[in-house]
Amino acid sequence: MNNQPATSVRSPFYAVFRSIHILDSSLINAYFPKKSTALTEFSPERKRTPYMTNGCESETTSLNSPPSPHQQLATMPADKRGRLFGAGSSFQTKYVVPFMYKVFAHVPPRLLYNQIYYRLSKGARNLYAPTYQHRIFSTVNLETRTICNGKCLFCPASIKGVRPDELMPWEIFVNVIDQLKKISFSGQIALFINNEPLLDSRLPQMVSYVRAACPAATVVVSTNGILLNLERALELYRAGLDRLIVNMYTRNRSWLPQVHQIALELPDEYWRKTYVFFRRDDDELTNRAGASPNKPKLTQPIRAFCELPFNQINITASGRVGLCCLDYYFSEEMGNVAQQELLSIWFGARLQQVRQSLLNYDRQAANLCTVCDYPGYKQLVGPYSIFRRFVPWLWW
Ligand code: SF4
Repeated sequence: MNNQPATSVRSPFYAVFRSIHILDSSLINAYFPKKSTALTEFSPERKRTPYMTNGCESETTSLNSPPSPHQQLATMPADKRGRLFGAGSSFQTKYVVPFMYKVFAHVPPRLLYNQIYYRLSKGARNLYAPTYQHRIFSTVNLETRTICNGKCLFCPASIKGVRPDELMPWEIFVNVIDQLKKISFSGQIALFINNEPLLDSRLPQMVSYVRAACPAATVVVSTNGILLNLERALELYRAGLDRLIVNMYTRNRSWLPQVHQIALELPDEYWRKTYVFFRRDDDELTNRAGASPNKPKLTQPIRAFCELPFNQINITASGRVGLCCLDYYFSEEMGNVAQQELLSIWFGARLQQVRQSLLNYDRQAANLCTVCDYPGYKQLVGPYSIFRRFVPWLWW
């Protein structure tokens, strides 16, 4: 069996897009990864095609869309009704994100990413500005075990010994999911943050618990594929998983044999829900809120919006809630679900203060934000901003 599909994706359109993209990138490269541009390997079998990677797909999943119907209000205590607005976005997690993954497979990703991301980021900022005090998260990220078996050079979690191996107590997990059940949560429940979720042997059991408690939610697992095999994939899907993302981090963007086997043998009904990406373990992404081993902290904060604290809540194994998914060490602790209700943390003064500041393009309300180069909709200042406004490909 040939494990190395070799069909090229080059086309005349690619050359045109690429030229524009190079011009684009050369002017504004400051906030982008350098190596995550091209992928030339594709599976010969169309339906088994892995996706191209721009190194930023996790970021693209976090943009919000208009609020879903407020069916959750009926189950809320009277004093909380009126505070809640849009209990997650099932439309986003069920349709927008898979669509984006598919589009990224067929066009030069950073070109698309630059143009779409910034426009959506701008839209998100304007959407959140009047509603953020009442809007709840669209994504709940849970780190049920803190460690990772990867060795990616861009990731602080792969540095041995820095993060202790903690397992989320079952009671905390159940407590969080039961709270989501109470509000009929219909957004995304991701059983991972910066860890490798397959290292937690309870994963299928957890997926099954979430599925039963929150039938309208989208349950997602993202893995590096090292521990994945056909049986484990089937077990997760049978437990009720909605989406399995496999990021294969290798030096040459090649298949992991076990993932290739899955690509060939997983039944179609499950393969449709599986997203396989070629990535590089020496990639240079954002500076991961200043914690990346291969990219420095910013010395000056950028003036930019960031949507992450508006749409995601991140809970680590001990129950601590961090600022965003890039808060690797949960150093900006916003609360603890072992002691507080999820919604009281979400609407707590500290998170609202950070949001207020970000809406003003100010990243100084939290220490992590001051050193973070995560791109967001930037405040345009000076003559260059006027130039950018009138050049469509440079305008975001
Ligand atoms: S700007 Fe702040 S909230 Fe946004 S990704 Fe960076 S650290 Fe997280």
